[in-house]
Amino acid sequence: MSNNSNAVEQHGCVVCGKIYSLLVEYAPDGQLVDCTITSPGRRRVPDAHWPLVACSRHTETEVETALARHYPGKAVEDREDD
Ligand SMILES: [Zn+2]
Repeated sequence: MSNNSNAVEQHGCVVCGKIYSLLVEYAPDGQLVDCTITSPGRRRVPDAHWPLVACSRHTETEVETALARHYPGKAVEDREDD
């Protein structure tokens, strides 16, 4: 039997900071199970262990660059400095 809990949280786009509402599901130990973004015009950031959202108009590169800036230390292997 699952005791997962759901919460509605507001998270900003990792690129531009626009706020979206997410329906987030947590396991009893606090681990993120799933999140569903309830606002239109957005997408979930893949491979996230916590709720992250980005506008659907941003490219993968923009999102990855923003993540590297927000979460330094996470692997960013194909970063380009030119
Ligand atoms: Zn955005």
